[in-house]
Amino acid sequence: MTEARSIVDAAGIEALLEALRGQGYSLIGPTVRDEAIVYDEIATLNDLPRGVGDEQEGGHYRLTRRNDEALFGYVVGPQSWKKLLHPPMLRLWSARREGDELRVEAEPEAREKFAFIGARSCELHAIAIQDRVFLGGPYVDPHYRARREDVFVVAVNCGVAGGACFCVSMDTGPKATFGFDLALTEIVAGRSFLVEAGTEAGSALVETLPHRAATKAEIEEAEAILARTAENMGRSLEAGDVRQLLARNLEHPRWDEVASRCLACTNCTMVCPTCFCASVEDTSDLAGLESARSRRWDSCFTLDFSYMHGGSVRQSVKSRYRQWMTHKLSTWRDQFGTSGCVGCGRCIVWCPVGIDITEEARAIRESDGQKGAT
Ligand code: SF4
Ligand code: SF4
Repeated sequence: MTEARSIVDAAGIEALLEALRGQGYSLIGPTVRDEAIVYDEIATLNDLPRGVGDEQEGGHYRLTRRNDEALFGYVVGPQSWKKLLHPPMLRLWSARREGDELRVEAEPEAREKFAFIGARSCELHAIAIQDRVFLGGPYVDPHYRARREDVFVVAVNCGVAGGACFCVSMDTGPKATFGFDLALTEIVAGRSFLVEAGTEAGSALVETLPHRAATKAEIEEAEAILARTAENMGRSLEAGDVRQLLARNLEHPRWDEVASRCLACTNCTMVCPTCFCASVEDTSDLAGLESARSRRWDSCFTLDFSYMHGGSVRQSVKSRYRQWMTHKLSTWRDQFGTSGCVGCGRCIVWCPVGIDITEEARAIRESDGQKGAT
């Protein structure tokens, strides 16, 4: 694999999209819909959000007009790649009564090859986390595996930081360091992109594009852009000992305070790129001839999610918020060996009341009555 970094222009990016399509990939990338950046099918460069920026804060998201023609001048929107790898609703099997027989058919695994265009570093970390959840243990999810195995990733190193981003604290960005075939840094808005190959397939693809070797000055410019992004993170979270901090503060009064604001709306779990919880539901037609079982995203914020025989284990909003946050930042480490949070900031931005996981962790830290305990 070539380690050399190359420069491609807009025509080179267009050629990249065309080449991937020629290899049978469905191109999924950022587009503007309903006044937000969403991941959807794209055909050409013109489908990317040219000249678009964004404003992100607790409970606040607006697209803005940049004063340049940047193709990737915004940060992550409400959706993540999870919607393609772990779809919000997935039929698992269906059954049909035919005379005295019941024919049961398992849902076939998807065979579509995706190319993810514009995945950010925090999102690559999130995909790696979901890989551990769905593929890492003894019970591999066949639907996730089928969707995941052929993905070609064109990452984009972040040239701006969002108001709610804290990937630097979580050591998950802003530069993509793994999990990509190609990584782009937009060094001249809309016109010039530094390209790094992360795999043999990526390297071979670059060779087919109109490109030239990057100069030392261009490489330094890309590094300077990333350094500026890292300096401008909107938020931070002291992550080093947060696992122990939360574990010893399960009865902290802050949980009551946050519960008084939390609407248990589930938004934070829907937008989170690592949340993976799902429920199964069965449906049947009125004639009793057909039925199906589907898996759909669920959330630890609903009363039903922890329903066992006789009732819900987590009756209060306090217990549900605490479950979510301690799982993300604390017990996820026990379960999967990493944090469950990659610092993308979506849960802060899309919370209708602006509850902020970094602020909640800080509040508990500032009145941690058991400092020094484990
Ligand atoms: S918990 Fe919030 S900041 Fe962390 S990965 Fe999920 S949505 Fe992003
Ligand atoms: S923390 Fe915010 S987004 Fe999450 S359930 Fe509560 S109100 Fe909804």
